[in-house]
Amino acid sequence: MSRVYNFSAGPAVLPEEVLREAADEMMDYKGSGMSVMEMSHRSKTYDTIIKEAEADLRELMDIPDNYKVLFLQGGASQQFAMIPMNLMKNKKAAYIVTGQWAKKAYKEAQIYGEAVAAASSEDKTFSYIPDCSDLDIPEDADYVYICENNTIYGTKFHKLPNTKGHTLVADVSSCFLSEPVDVKKYGVIYGGVQKNIGPAGVVIVIIREDLITEDVLPNTPTMLKYKTHADADSLYNTPPAYGIYICGKVFKWLKKQGGLSAIKTRNEEKAKILYDFLDESKLFKGTVVKEDRSLMNVPFVTGNEELDAKFVAEAKAAGFENLKGHRSVGGMRASIYNAMPKEGVEKLVAFMREFEKKNQ
Ligand SMILES: *Cc1c(COP(=O)(O)O)cnc(C)c1O
Repeated sequence: MSRVYNFSAGPAVLPEEVLREAADEMMDYKGSGMSVMEMSHRSKTYDTIIKEAEADLRELMDIPDNYKVLFLQGGASQQFAMIPMNLMKNKKAAYIVTGQWAKKAYKEAQIYGEAVAAASSEDKTFSYIPDCSDLDIPEDADYVYICENNTIYGTKFHKLPNTKGHTLVADVSSCFLSEPVDVKKYGVIYGGVQKNIGPAGVVIVIIREDLITEDVLPNTPTMLKYKTHADADSLYNTPPAYGIYICGKVFKWLKKQGGLSAIKTRNEEKAKILYDFLDESKLFKGTVVKEDRSLMNVPFVTGNEELDAKFVAEAKAAGFENLKGHRSVGGMRASIYNAMPKEGVEKLVAFMREFEKKNQ
């Protein structure tokens, strides 16, 4: 068996320990004689799996009792519609447009009501986070929406916007569980798990209970009401059962690593290795303003498209996979999620140093 260093933005690297455990349990989960894939989601065994997953996530994030944790399907993109359908009581919301995912959410919300762009960083190819300390937010806006970590551009809100008392909704797909968060500051925190937590097919929504109501937009499908899933503890219909099981294992792995403070320290160390190199390199350059850099997604360029392509190809041959930047921006991007070992980043930087020497 040989494993590569996988720098994919998502689906992405998972802890080897988790994959091994899942392999061990594949044919016979704890004496049940079947795989978790083959098991009724109403069984006692599965009930323990999903309840433990929720309890571990609550512990990791210190989620207050007045928040529900929902395990849903449809990916992060389905939330782009579900959020306005459930939260737009006044049919108005403010969006901070810091990248493609935020923009998609903003566009989708326009189907359901008046979505206003309270700020944007599109003028400079989303390479920074706009100043959000004093935004013009409509008085009657139902919420303020952010994409907290911009996967494609490699920016992160290191300070939450001043919502002026409005509910904050955040897409945390690519920074989920990468550092501690103060859940109380948000109305909704959600993310697709395939970036930092588990296999594609699960989206986790952490939502304050008062935001879960029957008072949703007319014609909202049953499956797209938060209340449907909250009332049924995420078992209204068959949930993405196997995916949730893997997420649960990753939560346990994170607890073993020392929780989110410890993982943040490790993520900072890893990111520093790469950013320090980018700051001193004569060939490679980071594309994001320093103060807004993401700990998870690190885009960089050589300034020469041919050389970028050569780098990506040679890196791949050397066992560093998925370093090509998003198709919309080009260049390179190293996603260094929780499960990327520090050694992977160190080896990548050593490889970049060599490449720089040979291509001066
Ligand atoms: C990947 C990603 C999405 C889209 O996720 P899907 O599960 O494919 O819908 C949305 N937001 C962010 C921040 C992402 O990184």
